[in-house]
Amino acid sequence: MNKRKIIYMFFLIVALCILVSVGMSKFSPSTSKESHSISGRNIHELAKEENKKITIAAIGDILIHDRVYNDAREGDYYNFDKMLANLSSELKKPDLLLANQETIVAGETIGLSGYPTFNSPHEIADTIKKAGVDIVTTANNHALDRGVKAQKLSIDYLNQIDLPHVGTYLNKDDQDKIVVLEKNDVKIAYLAYTYGLNGIPVPKGSEYIVNVIDKEKMSNEIQRAKKVADVIVMAVHWGNEYERYPSNEQKELAQFFIDEGVHIIFGSHPHVLQPIEWLEGKNGQKGLVVYSLGNFLSGQDEEYRDIGGMVTITVNKLQRGNSTTITLDQPTFYPTFVASKNESNYIMHPLVTSEEAVDKYGASIYKKIMDHMLIEGQAE
Ligand SMILES: [Zn+2]
Repeated sequence: MNKRKIIYMFFLIVALCILVSVGMSKFSPSTSKESHSISGRNIHELAKEENKKITIAAIGDILIHDRVYNDAREGDYYNFDKMLANLSSELKKPDLLLANQETIVAGETIGLSGYPTFNSPHEIADTIKKAGVDIVTTANNHALDRGVKAQKLSIDYLNQIDLPHVGTYLNKDDQDKIVVLEKNDVKIAYLAYTYGLNGIPVPKGSEYIVNVIDKEKMSNEIQRAKKVADVIVMAVHWGNEYERYPSNEQKELAQFFIDEGVHIIFGSHPHVLQPIEWLEGKNGQKGLVVYSLGNFLSGQDEEYRDIGGMVTITVNKLQRGNSTTITLDQPTFYPTFVASKNESNYIMHPLVTSEEAVDKYGASIYKKIMDHMLIEGQAE
């Protein structure tokens, strides 16, 4: 290359850098702590701009009825792998996948049980971890089904297999620690709360065992999470069972979370899917709420209770000097179906290719569910 060409190339690169930086500045500064202007910045500063991307996803209830674990039984082992096998490549796609572990996984030593006071085999936790789940929320109305000791055994098992969890705790220190996962230089704080515990009182002195919805406590934790993470994810157990649309209470609480600075809300408990919606926080920032992820794997086969799915959101982190801006892309939804016959042969399928779902709900079920989740006019 001659000298002229080198000089030409140099100016071309500089021009490209400026173009890219102007493009970047169009990102909405939704959570920007500082504003910068393009003018006056030199090439050295431009080089410090970094845009990181990760995908954050969630699935609904892992709710293991006795008919489901009886179906999984192979001798003295419980094989849940085969129930999820059709989905495992899809579940591995997102960088971080959250699931609601509705039933405790204290295992056989204290006796397995189904509805109404659940305790599931250890193997279900092994299976979801192997399938691609990176973290579970354990704050739900079944957390104390078998008491505090059983909940602790369940936490011990999750710790033993190194599956991160949030919402139930071994002690106060454990509860005070913000759970943060990191991927591609993006730190994500996971918070989890439940509306209640099916009337089971929390024993005095063991209040740390499970996070119960309390605005002051939640606001406090969200503010603490902001200091240690870029993105805040709230897993919340709320709403009315079997209702396909959110209650006013859910809507009000969702707005509260977004106003406080939560980026993404993953709801569960209704056992059926409820829509996804964008909300605007009091400072103009955009947040996403998935009101209910429905059941993921359960023994419920009543209408819509065997349809669930995975919501995935791309999170962009733009770092410019000391200023960090987080923006969220339009979410995608991948619906799933639990096929079963006579309360056995539980196998999960992608809804889009499930003949069993078409037999049960008709040919347009996939489209109906997609329309239900991604509210028209919400897409951006
Ligand atoms: Zn529940």
